[in-house]
Amino acid sequence: MSHSDTQSLDCDLLIVGLGMTGACAALEARARGADVLILERATSGGGTSAMTEGVIYLGGGTRLQRDLGVDDDPDAMYRFMDAICNVSNKAVLRRYCDGSPEHFDWLEAQGVPFTRELYKDKHICPPQGPGLYSSGNEKVWPYREFATPAYRGHLVNGPSGNAGSKMMEVLLKRCEDEGVRVIGDARVLDLTTDAAGRVDGATFRRYGEDHTASARKGVLLATGGFQMNEKMVARDYPFLLENGVPIGEDSSDGSGIEMAQAIGADVESPGAIHATASIYPPGDLVRGIIVNKFGQRFVAEDSYHGRTAAFVFDQPDRKAYLIVDSETFDYPQFSEQFGYALVDGWETVPEMEAGLGVPDGALQRTLDNYNEFAAVGRDPRFGKHPDWLVPLKNGPYAAINLSADVVKYHYHSLGGLRVDEQARVVGANGAPVPGLYAAGSCAASVIQTAKGYGSGMMLGGGSFFGRVAARHCLAAV
Ligand SMILES: Cc1cc2nc3c(=O)[nH]c(=O)nc-3n(C[C@H](O)[C@H](O)[C@H](O)COP(=O)(O)OP(=O)(O)OC[C@H]3O[C@@H](n4cnc5c(N)ncnc54)[C@H](O)[C@@H]3O)c2cc1C
Repeated sequence: MSHSDTQSLDCDLLIVGLGMTGACAALEARARGADVLILERATSGGGTSAMTEGVIYLGGGTRLQRDLGVDDDPDAMYRFMDAICNVSNKAVLRRYCDGSPEHFDWLEAQGVPFTRELYKDKHICPPQGPGLYSSGNEKVWPYREFATPAYRGHLVNGPSGNAGSKMMEVLLKRCEDEGVRVIGDARVLDLTTDAAGRVDGATFRRYGEDHTASARKGVLLATGGFQMNEKMVARDYPFLLENGVPIGEDSSDGSGIEMAQAIGADVESPGAIHATASIYPPGDLVRGIIVNKFGQRFVAEDSYHGRTAAFVFDQPDRKAYLIVDSETFDYPQFSEQFGYALVDGWETVPEMEAGLGVPDGALQRTLDNYNEFAAVGRDPRFGKHPDWLVPLKNGPYAAINLSADVVKYHYHSLGGLRVDEQARVVGANGAPVPGLYAAGSCAASVIQTAKGYGSGMMLGGGSFFGRVAARHCLAAV
């Protein structure tokens, strides 16, 4: 990879940003013999992708799923994602599910490592070892009725909690080997258009000087999310600015979204943000119940942690408590990270109601109802899976505070530029903006609601549609 100051600023495909999306797009373009130039704001590539756990949401019968005896097919994956991901352009989802098995093969062919080991317990992301686990809401009611739940969290074999560093090390090396040209410390400011309105390049600032790069075929925005942009976060989640923790590189400030909007691009699900303060691991805590300040349940406790958080945010004053008895009690493994507080322990339910300020008798009613059905393996109200249903009858009881003003919810963005199934940016007039593509977390793609997010959907959708963009752009002109 060259960082030379003297290299040409002309190319076939100009890519803005070198995270996983930019790297995969560049490799796809180089495989077609195209001249690719990447402008990267940081000194070198990696982006937020390099900070991740390295979970990639894929399915439809990938080689890894098949090797591990996991049944899946593109239709089942589509039915599940269509039911939960809030994607309006069905062709985007269809393409992703149909192309997922090939995309896994492609990632492995690049050298991204996955072990043939299945992890079956409930975890945010298991430590290094397994290559496949359940990273979403597949088993959660009613979604388990749309399609038989399948394991789809494809986990890169790399350092525990940060396998994304290994993934990006491999992909950046591949870019270097394939002669992808990269200019670091190059912050893109604006997109340029020709007389017909076609996007044909970008201006960027490097060491205090402004330059223009020209693209013969098109420009792909792969600039990452907007969680560091307070104005964008405040749109739907102002309270996160008080007590939440944005995660990712500082460059996740929505600059790509803004520069595209400046030339007429539309956005979709612009406020969508995934926040988490997972109660699990340990999985046993999922056997507790989660109630609001009125002592009422409001979500199936076996939901993916981001879905649970989204429902907490819907509650009055965003107050919520995890209630456990002496049999189910444990400390959330990530207590320190998320700032969990044990409210207290109480011998009886009325004492707990008083301690939590819940109306008299409310929690008792909730527990009586829950226990009656849990004893026969049912949860008629929220459909919590029988695997996690046990009556909570054995005092003392304890409550862990999940309220948004107490716990430090960690968050990153999901929404962004409106794109079609070719990763073309769609304008406010409903037509593609000529010459402009977007993928990864600057685009609203395969997941547009926190209530449906599952780990890996961002890296999966970004890397997949980065490649789609490269193919379409190079074939289109
Ligand atoms: C701690 C953590 C763990 C996560 N774990 C997962 C996971 O396991 N699986 C998953 O799917 N998602 C995960 N996510 C979400 C995921 O990180 C992002 O959605 C994903 O990395 C986006 O990839 P990208 O290539 O679109 O953007 P990025 O990887 O953020 O890359 C964008 C690049 O663009 C550059 N850039 C930005 N603006 C400009 C500009 N104006 N000019 C030039 N360059 C610019 C940036 O410097 C950056 O290098 C996690 C997020 C965090 C914070």
